Amino acid sequence: MTDQPPTDAPSSASSSASSAPPLPATVYGYPRQGADRELKKAVEGYWKGRVTADALRETAAGLRRANWRRLAEAGLGEVPTGDFSYYDHVLDTSVMVGAIPARHRAAVERDALDGYFAMARGTQEVAPLEMTKWFDTNYHYLVPELGPDTRFSAHPAQQVTALREAVALGLAARPVLVGPITYLLLAKPAPGVDPDFESLTLLDRLLPVYAEVLAELRAAGARWVQLDEPALVQDRTPAELNAVARAYRDLGGRSDRPELLVASYFGRLGEALPVLAKAPVEGLALDFTGPGAANLDDLAAVGGVPGKRLVAGVVDGRNIWINDLGASLSLLGTLLGLAGRVEVAPSCSLLHVPLDADAEKDIDPLILRWLSFARQKTAEVVVLARGLAHGATAIGAELTANRADLASRAGSAITRDPAVRARTAAVTAADAHRSRPYEERAAAQRARLGLPPLPTTTIGSFPQTPDLRAARADLRTGRTGTAGYEQRIETAIAEMIAFQEQAGLDVLVHGEPERSDMVQYFAERLTGYLATRHGWVQSYGTRYVRPPILAGDISRPEPMSVRWTTYAQSLTRRPVKGMLTGPVTMLAWSFVRDDQPPADTARQVALALRDEVTDLEAAGTPVIQVDEPALRETLPLRTADRADYLAWATEAFRLTTGGARDDTQIHTHMCYAEFGDILQAIDDLDADVISLEAARSRMQVAGELATAGYPRAAGPGVYDIHSPRVPTTDEIADLLRKGLTAIPADRLWVNPDCGLKTRDWPETRESLTHLVTAAHRIRTEL
Ligand code: GLN
Ligand code: ZN
Repeated sequence: MTDQPPTDAPSSASSSASSAPPLPATVYGYPRQGADRELKKAVEGYWKGRVTADALRETAAGLRRANWRRLAEAGLGEVPTGDFSYYDHVLDTSVMVGAIPARHRAAVERDALDGYFAMARGTQEVAPLEMTKWFDTNYHYLVPELGPDTRFSAHPAQQVTALREAVALGLAARPVLVGPITYLLLAKPAPGVDPDFESLTLLDRLLPVYAEVLAELRAAGARWVQLDEPALVQDRTPAELNAVARAYRDLGGRSDRPELLVASYFGRLGEALPVLAKAPVEGLALDFTGPGAANLDDLAAVGGVPGKRLVAGVVDGRNIWINDLGASLSLLGTLLGLAGRVEVAPSCSLLHVPLDADAEKDIDPLILRWLSFARQKTAEVVVLARGLAHGATAIGAELTANRADLASRAGSAITRDPAVRARTAAVTAADAHRSRPYEERAAAQRARLGLPPLPTTTIGSFPQTPDLRAARADLRTGRTGTAGYEQRIETAIAEMIAFQEQAGLDVLVHGEPERSDMVQYFAERLTGYLATRHGWVQSYGTRYVRPPILAGDISRPEPMSVRWTTYAQSLTRRPVKGMLTGPVTMLAWSFVRDDQPPADTARQVALALRDEVTDLEAAGTPVIQVDEPALRETLPLRTADRADYLAWATEAFRLTTGGARDDTQIHTHMCYAEFGDILQAIDDLDADVISLEAARSRMQVAGELATAGYPRAAGPGVYDIHSPRVPTTDEIADLLRKGLTAIPADRLWVNPDCGLKTRDWPETRESLTHLVTAAHRIRTEL
């Protein structure tokens, strides 16, 4: 503590760290939106013409400055720049390398900012870039569109501006860019390009552009630049690994460059580790959390990276739990022997966690001590860096407090509910199986339901009208009491049942008017789940979600959905389908506890849902749908990890549904267009009926199911609900004819791709009427 403060250190009254030399601590990125989601408001205001471009830029610059100050004051030795984005950092990378699709060029030339948003969101005239999930997170990026004619050019202005802003604050700043290999691997062939086109063939054209950007950043004051290569934690072919070696030999071999930190996250580098260890770059960032833990042995196996800066991702950037500081410190100690210099970081950008746990005033203060959001994770990284730099005794108080918090969590009645534990321990293999095979169940269900061939149904939700949103808001604010609220929901259900009867649908739904979100609704009704008030996480663009937290052992104090389903059933003689969210999706769209395997948590959720199935049955519900739209999206990044995941995921589904009577028809639903790698898992669910998104892939999925010999009933979607466009009766009939070539008439269902909650009523009415008419027409052709 005798060192003089560096002259460029930010002023901080409270932190003693600011009077010490820079700590070996950093982060790769921070939540972008601001404490009050200022960015969302500014960007959406700009779209509506209420905020000027200058005001938007000023808000953005202010948010960047506030984040850097906060990070520096927390004690980070180096802050990231370039992690900020108006919409998405992969789109920013496309702009940086000049990969603007032909259809957007005119807009970009007219106005760079409007052109940028046109690529992100489309306009009346042009379609946006496609959006897809960023690895196995719930963040969505805009997919670069490339082809053999793509020519790259360097446009580093955004990166340089951000760097200069941070430097002007007197901070050591490190620009963070998507690396060239990951950028190319995330791309897809542009429209009209051969679908087999491999974007890695563009590497030689892309590298000089990256080199130019790197040189500009160095000239603007960057000592280090971080290149993110998360694509290297997936299985990569020898050719791809060669490209990695070539790329970093090329970039590393240039003279007018900053020092390079190649960062990986979301898992272990595997075969890519030796390649990067040998590359002429000065730093490597590795993830040591979750499946990334294997990086330790792999690193030792290559003899470490003695000459390099090793940034160790030891604080999980994907979840919201406090770190085990003692365990991390000892891991960091081991790493000291494997690298030239070790630095502490979260495992990935903090973009994937909410901003500040301290803002959660409704959460029990005891539980709050177990939670760590971006701000708390930053503090953990700094504490660990102090421990690394000055020894464990320097952080003795923090270690003691951390041990106490971990012990309070481990010993809590919330995380250890004896009744739940006894029940999960007693689960037998038989519990996860229906008592009879599909054919016998199908006969019993036919007898009970008496449905025509090609039965029609929907996926569950109907349009969420402003009226419904107002009803929920009124309940929240106390303007409506429970009775008044329930009255409004019942009125909505009655209207939806009347519409479905009149449209002629065969299996009806209650329409889900009581749910704003299919996971949150059940999370709020299960003991062991926590909700946050301000825990927003970016999903895409200006859309943020507030994932609930699986904090403790899960149980169901009382029925959750029975009331609405039975009310709907009381209004009609047609079967009404009960609607539940499956255990895998309940985990995928929540923060999952890290003190037990996800399989155990899934099993607890499954048992709670199993009771709901029993109660729905007892109330006379003949059809129950258990939605699993997330089954495919949480598939592990490495093929080797998939069998294990699919085993517990399908078991959890079967545990939910395994107790159902033979004559209860179990449906499931998934909405992801590529089912190729989970066909076996779909079969393992043993659902009587599955509805799948298919309108965009034109019944391709029906063919895939048939080829795989799928033996049960299926409803590939015949109405694309992602667009307001109303499908014609003829086109639906054509799709059904195509479906019939793959799936026989007694097993083909007729339904939309997904729920209708984002649609408006007029188009929904018309589309469903066409859907029913098409089904009737095809029935007469049988
Ligand atoms: N039952 C849900 C609904 O209709 C399913 C949503 C989904 O698949 N994402 O909204
Ligand atoms: Zn869906």
